[in-house]
Amino acid sequence: MVYPEPWCMPRLFTPEIAAFYEGYYSNKGIKIIKGTVATGFIYNADGEVTEVQLKDGQSLEADIVVVGVGGRPLTTLFKGQVEEDKGGIKTDAFFKTSVPDVYAVGDVATFPLKLYNDVRRVEHVDHARKSAEQAVKAIMSEGKFIDEYDYLPYFYSRAFDLSWQFYGDNVGDTVLFGNNDPKAPKPKFGTYWIKDGKVVGAFLEGGSPDENKAIAKVARVQPAVSSLMELEKEGLTFACKI
Ligand SMILES: Cc1cc2nc3c(=O)[nH]c(=O)nc-3n(C[C@H](O)[C@H](O)[C@H](O)COP(=O)(O)OP(=O)(O)OC[C@H]3O[C@@H](n4cnc5c(N)ncnc54)[C@H](O)[C@@H]3O)c2cc1C
Repeated sequence: MVYPEPWCMPRLFTPEIAAFYEGYYSNKGIKIIKGTVATGFIYNADGEVTEVQLKDGQSLEADIVVVGVGGRPLTTLFKGQVEEDKGGIKTDAFFKTSVPDVYAVGDVATFPLKLYNDVRRVEHVDHARKSAEQAVKAIMSEGKFIDEYDYLPYFYSRAFDLSWQFYGDNVGDTVLFGNNDPKAPKPKFGTYWIKDGKVVGAFLEGGSPDENKAIAKVARVQPAVSSLMELEKEGLTFACKI
């Protein structure tokens, strides 16, 4: 695995969270090369890839290459015709754009995120589905009152026998809890994000459905914390009490 960042998924993961996954992948025999990118491929007479060239001068033997470089919202079709914001199409809480009867949902929509009094784009399947549902409700409402979209950001992923979930906002101080040793037989650990004395985000690897519900509730309720050390000691119990 080759990636340009100093650790994997730095937009969400803290270095401690990343260290667990990097360790886990390495223990499975995966070699991780950080701080560089692929610049080209070498192929044989049959057109099959044989080598990947990296920007730092290294070259890696390969017979299959998986490129996962993300994507950007495709808004060119609408340039100059709808109002844009933060790289997406600006909408209200019902996913209406600046043009009557034109709605934008999913990755391309920059919408009011009520919980944080902010406007954001969210690139995740859960929001793609829920924003589409909200737009359809608005279209079908025939002037009747419907609630504003009130989304709690939610991300998840699964790899090997691992499974993590994250809810809320990853801003402020962080507290790691549980055992993030990649060699642990059943790893279970998490992280809270704390801003202005309140827990605003929670991540959990290896949680049960009830525990994942508990961290979602914490991110929604944003309970106050007086001591980060106490929070670290309490760990998941803190979330389960809310
Ligand atoms: C590498 C990668 C991994 C991801 N992993 C996850 C994951 O594990 N879990 C998760 O929840 N989310 C994941 N996501 C994000 C998730 O895929 C997106 O948030 C979700 O697909 C957004 O849905 P959407 O309907 O807004 O857009 P899309 O699914 O991108 O759908 C937009 C569609 O519009 C089509 N289109 C574009 N222009 C035109 C045009 N002019 N005319 C007609 N059609 C057009 C496109 O071809 C595309 O099919 C991942 C994304 C990437 C790139």
